[in-house]
Amino acid sequence: MYLSNECQNICTYCGFSFTNKIPRKTLTDAEILAEIEIVKSYGYDNILLVTGEHDKLVGIDYLLHAVELVKQHFSQVSIEVQPMEQHEYELLKKAGVYAVLVYQETYHKDVYKSYHPKGKKSNFEYRLDTPDRLGKAGVYKIGLGVLLGLEDWRTDSYFNALHLDYLQKTYWQTKYSVSFPRIRPHEGDFAPKSVLSEKELLQLICAYRICFPDVELSLSSRERAQFRDIVLPYGITSMSAGSKTEPGGYSDSEALKQFEIHDDRTPAEIAAMIRSKQYEPVWKDWDAVLI
Ligand code: SF4
Repeated sequence: MYLSNECQNICTYCGFSFTNKIPRKTLTDAEILAEIEIVKSYGYDNILLVTGEHDKLVGIDYLLHAVELVKQHFSQVSIEVQPMEQHEYELLKKAGVYAVLVYQETYHKDVYKSYHPKGKKSNFEYRLDTPDRLGKAGVYKIGLGVLLGLEDWRTDSYFNALHLDYLQKTYWQTKYSVSFPRIRPHEGDFAPKSVLSEKELLQLICAYRICFPDVELSLSSRERAQFRDIVLPYGITSMSAGSKTEPGGYSDSEALKQFEIHDDRTPAEIAAMIRSKQYEPVWKDWDAVLI
């Protein structure tokens, strides 16, 4: 659930980037409650709250208040917001946050700077150290990932795996998840440097599953339906469904989406697909089916 598309950063690949002239919106209490009602009606009990990165408009006070509102309706509340200080994560944990997702985007330091020229996010080290601050704050689950396509995907994924391995050994009481976002079309003309095919993404997911048997692997509705069905039995343990990538998107909004959704099946349809076992492996058909 997107709470805000306000952002002070310039990220050259993102529709919410500071210099993009788009309608900006941050949800009020009433709007958050309206969104909750709709998301709950889909049968969800876990929720991920997402914001752009804006110190003043969606800083710690706004988030603490939003978590307070949301946690009464969901068993697990996770957040994907701007990197914060350890004491802020401690407050969020106390308020009821279960997991924090923070993606490094790319581990290539020089290239990172070119994709993030302005704003707090341009500080590579501060972002890289964020999972450490989360581990020290005792947050229950940390979500990692790279934006596949910014740099050579094998190199970035390898460094992401090294980072995960280090975190598992250092903060061994914490759970971890890894996501596999591939760059999707958005406003503007951003072209991925390294194009990752579906076959390669499947290979990557299998590699993570072999290397990290207990880690949650997550695949979003950025990917098309048929691909998600095929990949599911190879290690994916968490999937979004019915996602809206704009603030207020569940009730009504004309705000700009952060990225396009490719699997637009409803949560009920995804649940039915999983229950029906239609996702069983189709080994012989891979060449014909995967793009
Ligand atoms: S990727 Fe995040 S930090 Fe960068 S512009 Fe988009 S919302 Fe802001």
